[in-house]
Amino acid sequence: MTVAKQLYQLQEIDLEIESEEQALSQKVSQLGDRQALDSAQSQLASEQQRLDGLRHQHHDAEWAVDDLLSKIAVAEGQLYGGKITNPKELSSLQHEVNTMKAKSDQLENKALEIIDQVEAAEKSVAAATNEFQRLEDEWHRQQKQLSDEIEKLKSRLADLKQKRQQSSGEIESQAVVLYEKIRQQKKPPVAKVEQGICRGCRISLPASELQRAKSGNPVQCGSCGRILFLP
Ligand SMILES: [Zn+2]
Repeated sequence: MTVAKQLYQLQEIDLEIESEEQALSQKVSQLGDRQALDSAQSQLASEQQRLDGLRHQHHDAEWAVDDLLSKIAVAEGQLYGGKITNPKELSSLQHEVNTMKAKSDQLENKALEIIDQVEAAEKSVAAATNEFQRLEDEWHRQQKQLSDEIEKLKSRLADLKQKRQQSSGEIESQAVVLYEKIRQQKKPPVAKVEQGICRGCRISLPASELQRAKSGNPVQCGSCGRILFLP
């Protein structure tokens, strides 16, 4: 095998390593990302908070109704108890009872309206709970899958790096040094030559350069500096 071909094969391993490393870092960044889950959770919390508020309001309204009803009972007891006989006083008491009854009716209606809202909010909370549960299950499933994929990528990378070490060890060291040097400036450092054209820079190679590249020794493209490989 020519040195140029060996370098080309080394480059193929390097490209594979780079792509696997990219995939690995992408998956690592996804690991533990709870953004979608957190937003569903805060949605659920706010629905729950709203429901709690409504239940509280309902409780307050019912309590106020009870309070009024017992006050009405006391006032009616006085009204019909016979102890008060002064007509003006009785009339004033009657007026007070009427006012409290109107207020109590109003509060009861309000409590009924709140009950409707409580029922709607309970449905929202149930839906948000289901949605959160679904997302959480999905998230755990994805995380597990990600972890598996990460493990596979790591083991694949370890294999590739070993393969690279072996391959580069089989190439004459001067050529590897040149490869690494070009690689720091240009990626990929080896360019195929097709129909007399360097695929790295797409420039037609002079006949002399082409002739030298045909030997299989590492020859650099006069235009882009890449190592030329004639397949
Ligand atoms: Zn070139």
